[in-house]
Parts: sequence; C-alpha cells; structure tokens
Amino acid sequence: MSKKQRYKRKALRLRKTLAIEHINSLMNQAMLLASQGNIRLAERAASLARKIARWMGVRMGKWRYFFCRHCKSFIFPGITARVRIRSNRFTHIVIYCKKCRNINRIRITKQHTRY
Ligand SMILES: [Zn+2]
Repeated sequence: MSKKQRYKRKALRLRKTLAIEHINSLMNQAMLLASQGNIRLAERAASLARKIARWMGVRMGKWRYFFCRHCKSFIFPGITARVRIRSNRFTHIVIYCKKCRNINRIRITKQHTRY
C-alpha cells in the first residue's frame, strides 16, 4: 500500500468514527427529548442521525431498535411504540409501531443476540 492510499484509508476511518460520534450524540439528544415528551423534535434529531449513517455508510448499531422497520420512523417505547416480551415458540421481544401498526420481533436466544 502506498503512502497516499494509507493516508486515504486513515482519513476515511476518522470520518466514520466522527460520524458515529455525531450519531450517538444526536440519538442521545433524541432519547432525552422523547422522554421529556417532545416527540416531534426527537423525531427530527433521529431522522438526521439516520441520514448521517446513510451518507457515511456506517451502521446504526444498537440504535436500529429505535426505528420502525416498516415506516423507518423514530419510535420510542411508551409513546410511539409498545414493547413486550413473549415466549411462545421462542423467546422474543415484540416491538409494535403505533404509527403504521407494524410488528417487529427480535429473538433473544443466545445465538441471535448481536451487540
Ligand atoms: Zn412503523
């Protein structure tokens, strides 16, 4: 690898870490706003965080659970989403989006948990 390539790769990695940092701070802000009842502002912060992730090609990580899989909007447990734990067939978490009424199931067996 030439010096230029190494430099480019390093710069990209730095940009991505900065993007992740920005996403984390935006999502923390969204959590705070949503818990205070300001769901509209929280939605704006969360959608900006998602946009940054898309532009930079980074994953949302644990924050992906705070977005509806169907309508892609920000969901907060207790306000715009309902979260239940069920153990019929297999143990899973049920996240119900109150906006589009979509149900998202997350398995919580040992081999399916990825963090
Ligand atoms: Zn939805």
